Amino acid sequence: MSSLSQHACDHLAALLKGFGLAASTPLSNWIDGRLVAGEGEEITLINPATGEALVSYRDAGAGLIERATQAAVRGQREWVTLTASERGRRMNAALRGLEGHEEALAQLESVVAGKPIRDCRAEVGKVREMFEYYAGWCDKQHGEVIPVPTSHLNYVHHVPYGVVGQITPWNAPMFTCAWQLAPAIAAGNAAVLKPSELTPFTSVVIAKLLEEGGKGVSQGLPKGLINIVNGLGKTTGAALTDHPTISKLVFVGSPQSGRMIAEAGARRLVPSVLELGGKSANIVFADAKLDEAVAGAQAAIFAAAGQSCVAGSRLLIERSVFEQVTTRLARAAEQIAVGLPSDEATRMGPLQNRRQFEQVTRMIEAAEAAGARVLTGGKRPEGLPDEAHGYFIAPTVLVDVTPEMEIAQQEVFGPVLVAMAFDDEAQAIQLANETRFGLAGAVWSQDVARAHRVAGQLRAGTVWINSYKAISVMSPFGGFGDSGFGRSSGLDGLREYTVPQSVWVETAPEASVAFGYGSGVG
Ligand code: NAD
Repeated sequence: MSSLSQHACDHLAALLKGFGLAASTPLSNWIDGRLVAGEGEEITLINPATGEALVSYRDAGAGLIERATQAAVRGQREWVTLTASERGRRMNAALRGLEGHEEALAQLESVVAGKPIRDCRAEVGKVREMFEYYAGWCDKQHGEVIPVPTSHLNYVHHVPYGVVGQITPWNAPMFTCAWQLAPAIAAGNAAVLKPSELTPFTSVVIAKLLEEGGKGVSQGLPKGLINIVNGLGKTTGAALTDHPTISKLVFVGSPQSGRMIAEAGARRLVPSVLELGGKSANIVFADAKLDEAVAGAQAAIFAAAGQSCVAGSRLLIERSVFEQVTTRLARAAEQIAVGLPSDEATRMGPLQNRRQFEQVTRMIEAAEAAGARVLTGGKRPEGLPDEAHGYFIAPTVLVDVTPEMEIAQQEVFGPVLVAMAFDDEAQAIQLANETRFGLAGAVWSQDVARAHRVAGQLRAGTVWINSYKAISVMSPFGGFGDSGFGRSSGLDGLREYTVPQSVWVETAPEASVAFGYGSGVG
């Protein structure tokens, strides 16, 4: 083992020990308020920076899903008996558990996910933001009174599903964990969440810290309210989606797996929310402030090494400035500090895993074979330490791309940008909408009317004007088409975790019970 790899293994072992997860096989699940080791096959994590083994843990399997769902039923029963304001107070109190642990959490994420440490620190901040936001919603989920045409008082209130199942990917493990846990419990549910098998630990630590955090200042979150169960999709994930206790599924991941989750839900008539991939169009008109557009385009695709669902992976540029924008972008891409995740100066790290690395490499090669030209990148970056044998690919810009090519249609999920020219507004919109995805997009122009006009015609759940990747837990997020359905964040995200219940109360002095539908109803 290289000294770089040995150092990462030692660092990870110390972090796991600090959080109480260290054992002969790591305690990789949080069930009913306890750390529990998996019972299934061994899963070995590989260090994304070196390509060498990092740590092994055991797949949870169906047995632990059973335990987790039973605990969730008990936890939810206790949680819903509290007043709404008490639930909000306890969610806020739980956040105290994170205090003093933020840096270690960021380090844990950085080592396992291979993400630059500065990005991981920002991600920890999001966990707090999401819990604070949804804690605030607990006592504001008002129902409504409907003026029905009978003597009834009819009110509608929002009741929780009960126990929800959540499945998250490896590219933003802490973000997606808090993103879904916070609204689920704010709405009165208990959750069983399965993170990606490639990034199992931070979700467990977050659940543990939150539960411990509330204990000192109030009675905290009930045991079993949040359960984290780690393992493979085909074993633990499938056991979760098929479990009869789960009454709603929320999935964040690829369209391929999303289809399987929706099918599993459909078999049991359980609804799902799917937050899937994207192939987002970033449209630059010639009248845009080009300095800002180039900086925006660069951040849109190369941040997180392109492993972001909203990555601006298709840059559509008005033909008169195409040459200028692509040349400047290629120069900017070459300036990005690509390096080890632990290095404070690193802006872009490796891809997270071998499968992803091979997929990105194959797609670049296929694009070149189909006629695309690499303007910059397309290979391992220069200047990396010798021992960094991991999954690094330099920021890549491809030109001479046509819309029907695979590279222009399919999500790469890596630091690869395709640039295409357009001649007018109509063609820009047509190109932008010409994929099966519909997650996000952006318009760069100083013509306000045009910017709004184009934004309104993009088939995308999120659109930015003269900006990219501004995302807040306050604003709804989700996709069209292969990018999925349902919404996360904001009130829309909260509503996904409740069912409207209509209650009819007779107010007449004497109830007249109709045989069949009451008066005024068909
Ligand atoms: P993936 O679909 O391979 O895996 C996601 C999760 O699904 C993992 O936890 C995996 O174990 C689980 N899974 C796989 N098969 C399963 C099955 N049959 N039953 C139950 N669970 C199963 O995705 P990934 O490679 O981890 O993540 C990358 C993808 O996620 C990209 O497409 C990216 O765009 C997308 N993503 C979307 C969003 C969004 O909000 N729209 C956010 C982040 C990532």
